[in-house]
Amino acid sequence: MDKQTEFVLRSLEERDVRFVRLWFTDVLGFLKSVAIAPAELEGAFDEGIGFDGSAVEGFARVYESDMVAHPDPSTFQLLPWREEAGGTARMFCDIRHPDGSPSWADPRYVLKRTLARASDMGYTFYCHPEIEFFLIEPERQPGAEPTPIDHSGYFDHTAQPQGTDFRRAAITMLEQMGISVEFSHHEAGAGQQEIDLRYADALSMADNIMTFRVVVKEVAMSQGFRATFMPKPFTDEPGSGMHTHLSLFEGDNNVFHDASAEYNLSRTGRHFIAGLLSHAAEITAVTNQWVNSYKRLVHGDEAPSFISWGRNNRSALVRVPMYKPTKGSSARVELRSIDTAANPYLAYALALSAGLDGIERELELPAEAEDDVSSLNDRERKMLGIEPLPRSLEEAIRVMEGSELVAETLGTHVYEYFLRNKRAEFAAYRHRVTAYELDTMLPNL
Ligand code: GLU
Ligand code: MG
Ligand code: MG
Repeated sequence: MDKQTEFVLRSLEERDVRFVRLWFTDVLGFLKSVAIAPAELEGAFDEGIGFDGSAVEGFARVYESDMVAHPDPSTFQLLPWREEAGGTARMFCDIRHPDGSPSWADPRYVLKRTLARASDMGYTFYCHPEIEFFLIEPERQPGAEPTPIDHSGYFDHTAQPQGTDFRRAAITMLEQMGISVEFSHHEAGAGQQEIDLRYADALSMADNIMTFRVVVKEVAMSQGFRATFMPKPFTDEPGSGMHTHLSLFEGDNNVFHDASAEYNLSRTGRHFIAGLLSHAAEITAVTNQWVNSYKRLVHGDEAPSFISWGRNNRSALVRVPMYKPTKGSSARVELRSIDTAANPYLAYALALSAGLDGIERELELPAEAEDDVSSLNDRERKMLGIEPLPRSLEEAIRVMEGSELVAETLGTHVYEYFLRNKRAEFAAYRHRVTAYELDTMLPNL
């Protein structure tokens, strides 16, 4: 028995844990959970816990549906919001087939496989996300937009205490679970919040994001409102992005940093960005996976709608943030397309894979976009070689259908399942008569 496993088993007794929740994520990024009694845990470490994969989105075909969840002891944490009810803990799981081989449907495995590829090239991949979301009133009329809990804006410090109290409670809980928070503030939209996590390796970060969503929803509920990670719940407010800062390390050395280069951005960093740009359209169906995601990727509101990079340019898809040149370890690139309802395992696997491809093929970085690219007209953009991101889920699916990089990174099973599922989502959406049509056409036609 290894040290971590021993630690978990000891903690169960010391902390009087009554339930252990085993967590994993389906292909669309929804959290799945099964609670087991502490007495079962030793067996779960040895043999895993079996479940019916055919009942989980994207997991298995009916004729090979047995799946086994193996808890990862390094992810053991107590759930702070369950303390009164007797200790409850959680661990993330790796999903395997009964023969012990990793499940090709497990998003955690998709990311692990991509991280192993980076590791073969000598790299460790770090991420830190800026997570935006809205706090809304729990009651809503069917078909109507929700009601935000406040009307404050960017960085506002207001007399309305809800947002501030909420952030303090949520951050305290995240820290209790070993998730460090760097910044938090009110975002530009009414009721919109942002919490930025301190960087971590991509796998821990994807786990942290899944935990973050649960914590934020729990705290919101305990304060009498609701949190939503829907990318664009309001027509007239900005959407919720999950801009993520990405960096690659070789040992202790940040390979994006070069003190002698323009913007201190190394050749490797330039190739990485070039890779992100060259595959940006192909990975959009995953980084922006819902029909609603495309309402956010519209001109303005600081969400990208074109494939460009820049330094201080908040309309760019990829931004190179400034840092103190003495702090080379802070070198990073910010990918701004990912939204707050993406599956973090798959989105990070694809961002990494696109960047690594840029490094391997030594792709040249196109010229930086200095202007607000959304204010240029089509002809000006064409002259600068700036292409649009897909404008709808349907367009994004079409580009993904031709992508070798996405097929390889996700693996055939996830790739095909994902495309099938998203085609069905778009078809369901397309035949739906919307509030826009009823409001603008019914009175006149
Ligand atoms: N809410 C914006 C988005 O959808 C981002 C605002 C910001 O720059 O933080 O990406
Ligand atoms: Mg923000
Ligand atoms: Mg940002």
